[in-house]
Amino acid sequence: MTVHGTAGIGTTLLERGTAAAAVAAEHAVDVDRQGRFPAEAIAAIKASRLLGAMLPVEYGGEGATLTDIAEICSTLGQHCSSAGMVFAMHQIQISSLVSHARTSEWHRGFLRTIAEQQLLLASATSEAGVGGDVRTSLCAVETEKGLYHLEKNASVISYGANADAILATARREPESPPSDQVLVVVLKDQCTLERTSVWDTLGMRGTCSEGFKLKASGPAEQVLPRSFAEISARSMLATSHLLWASLWYGIALSTVHKAQAFVRADARKRPSETPVGAIRVAEAASELQMMKSMTRDGLKRFEHAQADNEELTSMGFAVAMNNVKVAASRIGVEIVNTAMLVCGIAGFKNDTPYSIGRQYRDILSAQLMINNDRIFGNTSTMLLMHRLDAHLVN
Ligand SMILES: Cc1cc2nc3c(=O)[nH]c(=O)nc-3n(C[C@H](O)[C@H](O)[C@H](O)COP(=O)(O)OP(=O)(O)OC[C@H]3O[C@@H](n4cnc5c(N)ncnc54)[C@H](O)[C@@H]3O)c2cc1C
Repeated sequence: MTVHGTAGIGTTLLERGTAAAAVAAEHAVDVDRQGRFPAEAIAAIKASRLLGAMLPVEYGGEGATLTDIAEICSTLGQHCSSAGMVFAMHQIQISSLVSHARTSEWHRGFLRTIAEQQLLLASATSEAGVGGDVRTSLCAVETEKGLYHLEKNASVISYGANADAILATARREPESPPSDQVLVVVLKDQCTLERTSVWDTLGMRGTCSEGFKLKASGPAEQVLPRSFAEISARSMLATSHLLWASLWYGIALSTVHKAQAFVRADARKRPSETPVGAIRVAEAASELQMMKSMTRDGLKRFEHAQADNEELTSMGFAVAMNNVKVAASRIGVEIVNTAMLVCGIAGFKNDTPYSIGRQYRDILSAQLMINNDRIFGNTSTMLLMHRLDAHLVN
């Protein structure tokens, strides 16, 4: 896709993503060491107008597909996992708004503002007291005289302090059960964020995923018209799993590149012998291909389901998306571990061209970012009823 806007005349989405990834690469080590927001990378992403890329053209976007965005997540992931994750999480919110909020005038205006001002969106689904159960809320929206009020003890909001708006889940009203949720667009100037926890973690340090007490108030029309159950089932679950898997693929790929370079350098030193690590590179490359095929298949299935409501809401589709997430997060860790084995101490050290420590720490978050056991639990319930695919091709 070619853009003819002001910032990136004549450059494709991927070319702009690659240029932003080069900026991310320059600062990735510092972002990780300081545990700071990847400000330079996100500024480059904004300057090339990628934050609004997935919005339809009539709202000032470029109508990019999820697959276009997944390629950029993978590209960013090869250089800075945190910048890639910020980009992925923002696009997951965009996808929810595009799919579920266009019947509301307020949200249509908001979509235009996102494109014009390149607003960065964050997500507050996690809540103290419910763990990682996205489909349960304790807090509730209270509506009075056309205004909503919300107080949420959000255990994690990635880049909450740097976001222009936060999409927060809450019970529909104080009398609603925990699963009757809505999604509210909370603008930065309509809320206060009181920090409740710091983000001093093993990996993904630049996502700055701190805890906050969020207090917000604004026009009631900012609550999305569709239930969160519907938003989660029809878009958020799939887009999260697919964009995260794409990012993790990029992280894993970058470590196999390093392992391959390490083995090649070894082979140049001793041309008569095949380096021992070469067989491990072959193993990692095979796992990498598996990860790529699975993610691409998931993306293809998602794009197809956009035009097929029955498929989109089917159990088979939900099982497939869950499987992409758990499998990619497990294989990703294995690949990075294999690359570490190849590079040995040069991979373990933080100051060599083959250093893999940062990527290793980052990829470990994949299993926890909605815990795999929670997803397996959900899939296992569906598999009590759902038949496995009988065909390889169709
Ligand atoms: C890098 C990163 C960025 C994040 N960014 C955000 C963000 O921007 N916004 C946001 O809202 N959240 C965010 N999260 C939070 C994330 O999505 C999860 O909510 C959170 O990681 C879950 O925390 P937990 O492990 O304490 O809880 P749980 O998922 O509750 O897991 C705790 C333990 O309980 C077990 N467990 C609990 N329930 C079940 C069950 N039903 N079946 C099986 N096992 C179960 C798990 O296996 C695990 O051992 C982020 C997380 C990470 C790692």
